[in-house]
Amino acid sequence: SGFRKCSSLRVLLTPSYARHFSANTGSKLEGKVALITGAASGIGKETATKFINHGAKVVLADIQSDQGHQTARDLGPNASFVQCDVTKEADVSRAVDFAVSKHTRLDIMYNNAGVACQTPPSIVDLDLATFDRVMAINVRGVMTGVKHAARVMIPRGRGVILCTASVTGLIGGLAQHTYSVSKASVIGIVKSVSSELSKHGIRINCVSPMAIPTPFVLDELSKYYPGVDPERLVQMVHDFSVLKGGVCEPCDIANAAVFLASDDAKFVSGHNLVVDGGFTSFKSIDLPPPDQLS
Ligand code: NAD
Repeated sequence: SGFRKCSSLRVLLTPSYARHFSANTGSKLEGKVALITGAASGIGKETATKFINHGAKVVLADIQSDQGHQTARDLGPNASFVQCDVTKEADVSRAVDFAVSKHTRLDIMYNNAGVACQTPPSIVDLDLATFDRVMAINVRGVMTGVKHAARVMIPRGRGVILCTASVTGLIGGLAQHTYSVSKASVIGIVKSVSSELSKHGIRINCVSPMAIPTPFVLDELSKYYPGVDPERLVQMVHDFSVLKGGVCEPCDIANAAVFLASDDAKFVSGHNLVVDGGFTSFKSIDLPPPDQLS
């Protein structure tokens, strides 16, 4: 079997291959330096936690300064915080330089910061000021992070870039146009930039979660359903799941990010890893029983 083949090959391993095998068994990110945007809460915070548990040193970057500092303190000595608004190129550049000067290099850049938005549902009523604001964070902010990560990774000829896209970027009708378009663009960034970064030994991928009841989603839902118990809103989001016995949680995205950031995914690039329990893979139809067809 393939497994036995790998085991016997092990005897002949070069040190570089041996590193990949050991990465499969123990801490997957031992000694790696990561920068994560939007890491003060939600998916970014959970990913920072998992990266540290896998042996990485993590710089958390977020626009929320107090919460970011608190999160870094909670995560211990392998976490640090840098204030960063991803709409400002100077902030993103400074965050990358902070990681490099603190830890000598940047191995993993995770462009995760993003916002939801409430806009009128019809394209006819599209609010272009909101569109520009969301695109500035969700798309331009990601592009800026990719640019500055590439700036320090290309000279080393290695590195991993991750981005958070969304299932709303894959099929229409799951969110307002503005948000959906912004997330479709993130998938586009990954495909376009991988064409250049591959030849420098740098992998770039994105993760597409389905709805998770993080502050981001609950804030938007509570505006739509004012006064409704937050527990009820969490349940509503979890009810979107089509996978029996499973709901989408920040740890599912963090696990996907650990995989993509690690040598387990050493040949995966330009990929959109959809984490949705099958949600975007099918649409069920309920056929009426024959005796009910007139
Ligand atoms: P969250 O609100 O918990 O976290 C988002 C973080 O981004 C916050 O800490 C916020 O302060 C930060 N942020 C916002 N604007 C910023 C800016 N200009 N500069 C720097 N940081 C900024 O939400 P989350 O669910 O963890 O979202 C993380 C990512 O996941 C986002 O890109 C979001 O679009 C994406 N996503 C979320 C879901 C979901 O259902 N929660 C689903 C698919 C994709």
